[in-house]
Parts: sequence; C-alpha cells; structure tokens
Amino acid sequence: MAYEIRTYGDPVLKTPAAAVIEIDGKVARLVDDMFETLYTSDNGLGLAAPQIGVQKQIFVWEVDDEQMVIINPEIVESSGEWVYDEGCLSIPGLYVEIIRPNEVLMRGRTLDGNEIEIEAKELMGRLFQHELDHLNGVLMFDRMTPEQRKGALADYRRILEEQSAKPRRLRLR
Ligand code: ZN
Repeated sequence: MAYEIRTYGDPVLKTPAAAVIEIDGKVARLVDDMFETLYTSDNGLGLAAPQIGVQKQIFVWEVDDEQMVIINPEIVESSGEWVYDEGCLSIPGLYVEIIRPNEVLMRGRTLDGNEIEIEAKELMGRLFQHELDHLNGVLMFDRMTPEQRKGALADYRRILEEQSAKPRRLRLR
C-alpha cells in the first residue's frame, strides 16, 4: 500500500526514529509499502520510514533496478567533501547545493537480520547521509548555512504558492 509522503512542517519529520528491535513480517510489509510509496514519486531515489509517518530506523533505496533496504543504520566513517544539488521528497521542488562528506561507510542490518556494511561515495554516499538524517529528525534545512536557509525557505514558500495556485482540474460539460 502506498502512503502519502509527509512534507515539511509535519512534526514526524523532526522526531528521531526508534531502533527496530525485532525484524519480523511487519517490518517486511512496511518495506514493501515504502517501495510502493517511493514509486509514486516523480524522481525519488530513496525513502525513510518517518517520511510515511513511521518512526522506525529504516530506509529504502533503489540502485540499478535493485531494491535495497537498511535497518538501524549508522555511518561509522566518512571522509572528503562533495557539493551536490540536493532535493527531498518531503520538500518537493526545492534543490539546494549542500556540502557534505563524499565517502561514507554505513553499517546496519538487512531484512534477514544480518549485519551489513556498505561503502559509498558521491550520489550514493549523499543518499545514505540524507536518508540517515531523516531517521534522526534532521532535514536539509538543518544542513544549510543560515544564509542558504533563509533563501531556501523563501524559495520553498514560493514553490508551495505556485502549486496551490495551479488550477486543480478542467471540467468539461
Ligand atoms: Zn528527504
């Protein structure tokens, strides 16, 4: 079942998610729902559980048509620096250049409960850092300089206004 993606302003996005204690069928179903929800988005690469209102430390992503999931992830090493025009399904339409470490080593668990370590850089490294932030109640705005944040909030307000000004549906009789 696809959920509605929570957007900026929803308190669930500011709340740290709880660790998953038992990886059971419920978690597997949740992961299925997260992929279904991800596929309703225009160009989303990844989705974290809080984005559908579930406060659990899980995020999913797709790479080379393969569905990936990580449970209770943490970044254990990071290095370098990389600038990327970052976007977020919970802040639709806004893209801001954000500097973050380039390479990361992430550790967590798979749906089978096995420990997994994944090394990533550039786009994938960015995706991991962004989704992990969601699990800590951290949004892109929190990663911006005060100057950037001011501009980005104004831009986002404008994007929302444009969206609500669009005619909903043309009715023909
Ligand atoms: Zn996001």
